[in-house]
Amino acid sequence: MITRFLNLQVFVCVCIFLAMGCGLAPESREAANNEPAVADKPLERFGLLWEAFDVDSGVVASGQSLSHILSPAGMTAGEITLLAQATHSEYDVRNMRSGKSWWIAYDRDSSSSAAHFIYQRNAREYARFSLQKPYQVTLESLPADTLIRRTKGTIENSLYVDLDRLGAPTTLALAMANVYAWTVDFSRLQKGDEFDVMYERTYINGEPMGMPRVIACNFQHRGKELPAFRFDQGEGFDYFDEAGQSLRKAFLKAPVEFSRISSRYNLKRFHPILQKTKAHYGTDYAAPKGTPIISVGDGVVSKSSYTKGNGKYVKIRHNNTYETQYLHMSRRAVSAGERVTQGQVIGYVGSTGLATGPHVCFRFWKNGKQVDHLREEFPPSTPIMYNQMEAFQTTIQELNAAIGSLKVEAK
Ligand SMILES: [Zn+2]
Repeated sequence: MITRFLNLQVFVCVCIFLAMGCGLAPESREAANNEPAVADKPLERFGLLWEAFDVDSGVVASGQSLSHILSPAGMTAGEITLLAQATHSEYDVRNMRSGKSWWIAYDRDSSSSAAHFIYQRNAREYARFSLQKPYQVTLESLPADTLIRRTKGTIENSLYVDLDRLGAPTTLALAMANVYAWTVDFSRLQKGDEFDVMYERTYINGEPMGMPRVIACNFQHRGKELPAFRFDQGEGFDYFDEAGQSLRKAFLKAPVEFSRISSRYNLKRFHPILQKTKAHYGTDYAAPKGTPIISVGDGVVSKSSYTKGNGKYVKIRHNNTYETQYLHMSRRAVSAGERVTQGQVIGYVGSTGLATGPHVCFRFWKNGKQVDHLREEFPPSTPIMYNQMEAFQTTIQELNAAIGSLKVEAK
C-alpha cells in the first residue's frame, strides 16, 4: 500500500511535471521562507512585546459593548467611560462589531492590571487602547508580506481543477482568465495547453489576503505561445505581450459608420409603438436600410436568430465578460458558432421586429446584464508608449530572469 502510494506520488510528480513554487523573487529572498516573516516573529505582536504580557482573548459577542469586555478585566464603569471619551476622536468604540477578535494584555508584575486592549477592526487593521492613564488609542495595520510564486503545468482538465491539483490557489484561475480575457476563451481550453505563471499574493499573519496577482505568464494555447507581462506605464497595471501590445482590445465605438444615435439607453423610455413606458436597454443607431452592421470586437456568434420584438438579430460573445447584440436587421450575414473579427460585417440595417424605421438597436451585455455602453469605462488598451519602451524591455528581461530563478515545486 505504501509502495503504491509512493509510486503514485512519483507518477504525479514526473508525469504532470506540475508545480507550484514557494520561492521568492530575488529582491525579497532575504526573507525567503515558506511562511511569511511575521509568523516567524511571535515575540512582537500588535506593536507590543507580546511575551511580556499575560494575554486573554476572545471574540465580540452579539450585543456586547466595550464595557462587557473590560469590566471582567477589572476596569470600573467610570474608567471605561473615560477611556471611550478620551479615544473617541480617533476611534469610536460604538463601531465595534460582533464576530471581531479582541485581546487584553495584562502586566506580568504583582499588579496584574490590564494594560492594553486590542480590537481587530478587519483582517488588516487593529486598534490598540492603552488601559492605563493617559487613556489613548493607536490605529495600526498588521504587517503584510508579499510572496512571489511560480506554478507551471499542463491542462488536463480545466485550469481551475489543474491548479488545485498542482497545489496552487484556484483563484489564480480567475486572475489568469482576467489577463487573457481578450485572447483565450478559458471555457474552451485544450488538453495539452501549457502554462507557466509567476504571481504574487499578500499574506497577513500567514493567511492569504485577496486574490493572487499575475506578474508574468506564458500560456501556450493550441500550440501558440501567449506571453503576458505586467507593466505600469502611468495608467495602472496592464498586461502586454513581448512587442508591447496590450492584451486587451478596445471595442469600436459604434456598430455602424456614418449613423446617428436616435435613442439612447433609458430605463424609463416612452415606447413609440407600444405607447407606454418601457425600458430601452440599447442604443439606437439610425441609418439607411442596407447599411452594413459591423461587430464592435472579435468574438464568436452565440445567436443569429429572429424574434417578434428583436426582428432579425445577431449576438456575439467577446469574452467571459462582454457580449454585444444587434437588432432589427434586414438581413443577417453570420450564423451561430461562427468566429468573427472586429469590424467584420455581420448583417445589414433594417426595421424587422418592433421598429418604426431602419436602425440598429445595439445592446451591450456585461456579465449577463444589459448596460449603457456609452457610460461604460473600459480598461486601457494602449500599447507601450514610445518613451516607455526601453523601461518595458528591461522589465521583460528582469521578469524572464526572475521566472527562471524561481523553483517549481510539486505539491
Ligand atoms: Zn433600441
